[in-house]
Amino acid sequence: MANFYKEITTCPICKTEFTYAKIMSSAIKVKSYDQDLKPNYVDYNPLMFSIITCTNCKFTYNEKDKDKIKNNISPKKFELINKYLSNITEEDIFKIDNSENKSPEFYKQQLVMGSEIYSILKKPFEVAKLLLKLAWHYRDIDDERRELKILNNVLKISTMYFEEAYTDDDTIFALFYSGYISYRFGNLNDAARYLDRLNSKYKNARSPYIRASKELRGELK
Ligand SMILES: [Zn+2]
Repeated sequence: MANFYKEITTCPICKTEFTYAKIMSSAIKVKSYDQDLKPNYVDYNPLMFSIITCTNCKFTYNEKDKDKIKNNISPKKFELINKYLSNITEEDIFKIDNSENKSPEFYKQQLVMGSEIYSILKKPFEVAKLLLKLAWHYRDIDDERRELKILNNVLKISTMYFEEAYTDDDTIFALFYSGYISYRFGNLNDAARYLDRLNSKYKNARSPYIRASKELRGELK
């Protein structure tokens, strides 16, 4: 049975049509989760196919946003994005590849470009989520120094924008990862404070983050 199928979309910046691979849900199998709920997959990593890049202008964005992202691009942001994209040279980028054969190196570049673009779009939680995926990429290749450096940026965004979270999902994300990343840096008092705040605010929630948060809090005692 096929594990991927092709989709076609139109770039919201330059209007070029391009195709990309989508993974079939039947091809996604989770082997285990790390303490911060990083999923470890059997065979394919579907996160690699959650981000796409225009083959013409290099605009890079989450596949889930393909229909609505244009609503966030004001003329001013359009100009800033074009300026950013025009500064990406051939040496900066591997071959653009939205196929099922995408390399982890190109996926890493997509996460970096995507985080810059969502930062221009003033979407801090999207930036934090892309950076978290980048940290996970470094964890996968056992580069802890870079993983921690990127996690530190996720922590900064989470603590800076926590008050601006619109949704419970964003609030849970900010508090959980502030707790987890503080824990990774050995700042156990900070970790306990963030996790306690999360656990008391969402006492009855069935979110997997709340379960993971309670487990992690138990380790800090
Ligand atoms: Zn484009």
